[in-house]
Amino acid sequence: MVTEFKSLIELNDYFKEEKTCIEFLAKQIWKDGQPVCPHCGSTKVYTTKSRSTKPSKKDVPEYRCADKACTKKFSATTGTIFESSKIPLRTWYAAIFILTTSKKGISSIQLSVQLGISQKTAWFVNHRIREMFRETAPHMLSGIIEADETYVGGKNGNRHQNKKYDYTKGDDEKMTVLGLVERGGRAMTFIVPNAKAEILQPIIQERVEQGSVVITDSLNSYTGLNETFQHVTVKHEKGSYRTDRHYHTNNIENLWSTLKKGIVGVYQFVSPQHVHRYTTEFTYRYNNRQDSGSEKFTLTVQNSNDRRLLYSTLINSPKIEKNLVRKKVGELKRKKKALPMPKKKSMQEMEDATLKYLEMLGKEFGINDMISPKRMGWGDGTFDDELENLQF
Ligand SMILES: [Zn+2]
Repeated sequence: MVTEFKSLIELNDYFKEEKTCIEFLAKQIWKDGQPVCPHCGSTKVYTTKSRSTKPSKKDVPEYRCADKACTKKFSATTGTIFESSKIPLRTWYAAIFILTTSKKGISSIQLSVQLGISQKTAWFVNHRIREMFRETAPHMLSGIIEADETYVGGKNGNRHQNKKYDYTKGDDEKMTVLGLVERGGRAMTFIVPNAKAEILQPIIQERVEQGSVVITDSLNSYTGLNETFQHVTVKHEKGSYRTDRHYHTNNIENLWSTLKKGIVGVYQFVSPQHVHRYTTEFTYRYNNRQDSGSEKFTLTVQNSNDRRLLYSTLINSPKIEKNLVRKKVGELKRKKKALPMPKKKSMQEMEDATLKYLEMLGKEFGINDMISPKRMGWGDGTFDDELENLQF
């Protein structure tokens, strides 16, 4: 049964009971709704009764794994983003519907008012939903690809109207983002330490099929792409970036524009440690732009499995320090020199070398967040500091 929700009201009406929410979740994360043990993957399970006396847990099915080596208890929420959450599933569902259908996103303060939860809770709910937006099955782009870089985050969202500001000077507040958009297809974004060729090109090599058309602006960092791709450079004219019917970067520019409008207008301030969560959010909406609100909602619930984001992970992790970045880039350059980066060799050899380099980058900066499901924690300091930084 496909459940279609035309509006938030219809969604709220349908998900009145926790039981209905749980059954919907089970259908989305398990094939035909048949329970699978999240601890060992066994499909042989016993259905048990919930011992909870809470009215919301009444008639909610729970299970015990029938595998003798496992025998663990679980429910549909085990291993999902909703596990051990004190917030009712219907509130989560409403939040998912709102966040996936709001073009520029929704601030935690607005969400808290709409759902009747505290702002602190809304902030965390928003970040956990963004976890479900993360792409975990990387794929290759092909055909015509627009590649571009931009700078987001920080307190002075409007300062760098000209995106060609001197990235070599660095910026504590802003993060560099590389974006790739397949014409008529999907977009990918990557948080990168800077916009230099040795950072951008390996990612493009890794994610774009050989022989594709790659359109970029005239930034020097893209020079040399013509060894692997049909590289087209377009000039950024004032007011319009269009130079030819096919050769333009309008799609990626649109994505950047929405991202920036959202960050400046809705989120107001995004601390550097969290920029990747917002780029993921906007990329997800771009990729599902043709889906109905109901489809966006359902797809997101399907992604709730195995995406738990612990509060401690969200707030306890290293900040990227400018000097540290410089030091690390220096170290990486030396390491890269030692790495064989074969020219005019087989694609396989190039891919191997690229992967090795990306792995290295990922370890240093946590950018494999966007490259592989493995992630590094972000954030630093207490939650209250974080809220203060948000400057509502
Ligand atoms: Zn099991």
